[in-house]
Amino acid sequence: MTDLLSGFRAMWTELAPIGRRPDGGYDRFAWTGADLELRAWFRRTATARDLVVEQDRNGNLWAWWGHDPAGGAPPAGALATGSHLDSVPGGGAYDGPLGVVAAFLALDELRAGGAAPSRPVAVVGFTEEEGARFGVACLGSKLSVGALDPGRACALLDATGTSLADAMHGAGNDPGALGRDEERMGGLAAFVELHVEQGRFLSDAGAAVGIATEIWPHGRWRICLEGEANHAGTARLEDRRDPMLPFAAAVATARTAAAGRGGLATVGRVAVRPNATNAVAASVEAWLDARAPAEVTLEEIVGEVRAEGERSAAEHGVSCRVVEESRSAAVAFDEELRARVARALGDAAPEMPTGAGHDAGVLAQVVPTSMLFVRNPTGVSHSPDEHASDEDCVDGVRALSRVLEELVWQ
Ligand SMILES: [Zn+2]
Repeated sequence: MTDLLSGFRAMWTELAPIGRRPDGGYDRFAWTGADLELRAWFRRTATARDLVVEQDRNGNLWAWWGHDPAGGAPPAGALATGSHLDSVPGGGAYDGPLGVVAAFLALDELRAGGAAPSRPVAVVGFTEEEGARFGVACLGSKLSVGALDPGRACALLDATGTSLADAMHGAGNDPGALGRDEERMGGLAAFVELHVEQGRFLSDAGAAVGIATEIWPHGRWRICLEGEANHAGTARLEDRRDPMLPFAAAVATARTAAAGRGGLATVGRVAVRPNATNAVAASVEAWLDARAPAEVTLEEIVGEVRAEGERSAAEHGVSCRVVEESRSAAVAFDEELRARVARALGDAAPEMPTGAGHDAGVLAQVVPTSMLFVRNPTGVSHSPDEHASDEDCVDGVRALSRVLEELVWQ
């Protein structure tokens, strides 16, 4: 335990300064300087362990035990564990990196026994999981399983107008190689992702580690409201076409619609024109993020927000369009693998659904996949307040190592 604890702390200390902002949050966006530093850290960490590192066609990093990628794709039956190293703007330290650090340490545990693996095992770090730079979440894993068209990916733009193709090229990579990685995905027998919990389920359950059962269906919708700009001091209230009013109605409805159905709905991003204190707004664009335990519930929540937005818009002479921007179906993690993971953990870890998307949810389309969560006492994520104690992280490493042990020699 002591060795694992000091091993964990040493790796965590190495990562701590990379992409850190003065306020303690992290900006770790794909193919930026911070990302390249993280990639260099991944390579150093792997090489120090005699693992063989390769970067796949989609920019994801793999560190192999028991396989030399120079000889081609991994053979059928390979295992992979890991997560991502990128962050949302001002994100926390744990979302992503904990899964990569835990994967390296779990592999250390496994290898300490001295036995050769009966199948290759990789630590993997996926690219742009948060979609913070180019707007598509799970970019690297979606490309790998063929869920994202490479041409569309290349043309994605960041906030400064730089395309993914240019960003990759600038970092010395060939964006022409992007695309489905059938051989690699086909070789994987299982992928296990450890992740910090993004809610308080485990905290309330009094457990350090839990097993994911499913990822809720979720999506993003853009609400476009067009009214008319006017003078805040002279335009009579009854003459206004103020898009802020249907916007406010839609936000309030998102809350009640989700609360009444056990789902989640959030409007966390809004763009107002002209965005002036003394002007009635001309237009409002707002983004709705909604998640629910079932597809039909998700439809109901979004339907209610849409109906109220349209009703209120009509009342105020404003036009209203609700456009679906992305949609992820429910993911049920592989039953057989989940049973094996539960057995490896002595049936002691609670099982829980999650409302957050992950690379594991994307890979689940083509590979048996499982997820472990580590307790986050604040329940806060995508913020500097996201936290897990060192002891719980080490419990996570031990759980992951037991799971890999169950899988690697079977
Ligand atoms: Zn994550």
